[in-house]
Amino acid sequence: MSTYADLSAAELDTLRAQLEEEYAGYKAKGLKLNMARGKPAAAQLDLSMPMLDILSSDADYKSADGTDCRNYGVVDGLPEAKEFMASMLDDEAENVIVFGNASLNIMYDAVARCWMFGTLGSTPWGRLDTVKWICPVPGYDRHFGVTEAFGIEMITVPMLADGPDMDEVERLVAEDESVKGIWCVPKYSNPGGVTYSDEVVERLANMECAADDFRIFWDNAYCVHHLYDDVADQDHLMDIGDACIEAGNPDRYFKFASTSKVTFPGAGIAAMAASPENVADIKKRMGVQTIGHDKLNQLRHVRFLRDAEGLARHMAKHAAIVRPKFELVCEKLEAGLAETGCGSWSNPRGGYFVSFDAPAGTAKRIVGLAKEAGVVMTGAGATYPYKNDPADSNIRIAPTLPPLEELEAAMDVFVCCVKLAAVEDLLE
Ligand code: PLP
Repeated sequence: MSTYADLSAAELDTLRAQLEEEYAGYKAKGLKLNMARGKPAAAQLDLSMPMLDILSSDADYKSADGTDCRNYGVVDGLPEAKEFMASMLDDEAENVIVFGNASLNIMYDAVARCWMFGTLGSTPWGRLDTVKWICPVPGYDRHFGVTEAFGIEMITVPMLADGPDMDEVERLVAEDESVKGIWCVPKYSNPGGVTYSDEVVERLANMECAADDFRIFWDNAYCVHHLYDDVADQDHLMDIGDACIEAGNPDRYFKFASTSKVTFPGAGIAAMAASPENVADIKKRMGVQTIGHDKLNQLRHVRFLRDAEGLARHMAKHAAIVRPKFELVCEKLEAGLAETGCGSWSNPRGGYFVSFDAPAGTAKRIVGLAKEAGVVMTGAGATYPYKNDPADSNIRIAPTLPPLEELEAAMDVFVCCVKLAAVEDLLE
């Protein structure tokens, strides 16, 4: 079959009529489907329900070092919680600080601290005329929301198959000392599912930065979120901490992770890891903010998940629920679109998203058509700073929340909308 671009105007007209009919059929069904946000499905949340019973009223509330977890104190986290989060963060327990329930909150606070106080003695970023930030695109909308909230000027850099375009990143950080940071989702990235190659990690660690206080915000949100159990079918990421130490830039990175999509979003535990100097600097500021986070939740998590092996076993149960959904999305795209030439998409081995690149100029129209037919997608443009995708092309598909049957129906609608928008565009 020829791609849509090869069809004559008359053929496209006929096709448009057929697609409009198909689309009207979907609209008539009064669907209410949602592929917008990367939320776990109820079946995934069920996996962690036994954790809520771990601390019954007669349970032992003491941590390994004898701390009564019901009481105030322990600003940086229980020793066993640090140990556990160190396994997710690829670090040593002493370099870990366990915070509250959300890593996004930690990232916001990390920017805010640098903004108000600087980092390791540097000028507070808020006192500078301009602060700039590197944003690999497509990326995570809420990262961009944080830097936008501080008035930080966001500079986009394309994500390639093995991470951000490092030629561009190296050029930007070398020439401009107002470039202070970069957002990185280094494994199964949001939305592209990309895992950074060793070369990219090493270049990030080694690059010459005009700003001494440049920081890599290493948001390893999907570090244990594999779709496949066999290690050979999983992505592997070089540790940025080791790479930075090796490069002689030990303070360059802040690592973040959470159990939001391991146990409960909104009721998990979140942590960061950094160099001993950074950790000391952060703890000094934190000690003013809080007397300590929720240690009962830390205890519950460690007693439920135990260690890296326990975590991997638990994540395999998530994968069993999530994998068929990802496979369905990719099959539907392949079957519906491969021959049309209308767009390309990622085929990730983990994470929470499939990234779809529609023909330029059609993403908003596709999302609008889908919405009218009862299928809510992430807003077109959301994967770019200022919600501005200059090519109007990228759409993030979040397959996890809907049950399989609903996902199937939603993907049929989506594929129809992509084709219709493409045909409309070609006829313009
Ligand atoms: N980081 C990334 C890349 C995400 O995709 C998400 C959620 O979608 C988060 C962070 C939010 O994590 P948390 O619940 O720990 O704030």
